[in-house]
Amino acid sequence: MRILLVEDDKLLGDGIKTGLAQGGFAVDWVTDGRQAELALAGEDYDAVVLDLGLPRVDGMDVLRRLRTAGSALPVLILTARDAVAERIAGLDAGADDYVTKPFDLAELQARLRALLRRARGKAEPLVRHGELVLDPAGRSVSYGGRPVELSPREFAILQELLVNAGRVLSKSQLEEKLYGWGEEIESNAVEVFIHHLRRKLAPELIRTIRGVGYMIPKEPA
Ligand code: CA
Repeated sequence: MRILLVEDDKLLGDGIKTGLAQGGFAVDWVTDGRQAELALAGEDYDAVVLDLGLPRVDGMDVLRRLRTAGSALPVLILTARDAVAERIAGLDAGADDYVTKPFDLAELQARLRALLRRARGKAEPLVRHGELVLDPAGRSVSYGGRPVELSPREFAILQELLVNAGRVLSKSQLEEKLYGWGEEIESNAVEVFIHHLRRKLAPELIRTIRGVGYMIPKEPA
């Protein structure tokens, strides 16, 4: 899951980026509204964490333009504790949720998971596929009732393939969901993670669509 973080406060932004990365999110961090608009135009995100008071282009304007352009991307706004009017304006301008500063990083992560779930039209927190159960909050996986140990990247790939079951994801799409800007990507990393997932789960679970990418079928075999 790839998140765009827009926050001009360096200390807070750094803390949020680190916290979300530990929670398994790939995070791109920008510090003004203009950079946010460029990032949104050029990259495929799953959600945005948006501060409202921003240099160059205000966060509220970023949000309004995003919605005017027809984007349904989940947006969580960061607001000051005493700024009730700002929260109301933000929600009415198309934000999906908010947290007030200072906030707990675990709560921010939980709210993001809820937004991502609802964006897929799901209320059930666990992702199920036949004998496979993935818990985004606990970051755990079981197969046929037995727990399976996955590395953070293996977990992230499996999650992407599961929430997109029935769709073929290319290697570069998977890389985008796994790595934020500036993170080193080994050229055959995705192939290696897929190989490990097949070995740890079931060889037939993830299909290779030659020349296109990888897919978990919509219906379990
Ligand atoms: Ca700010």
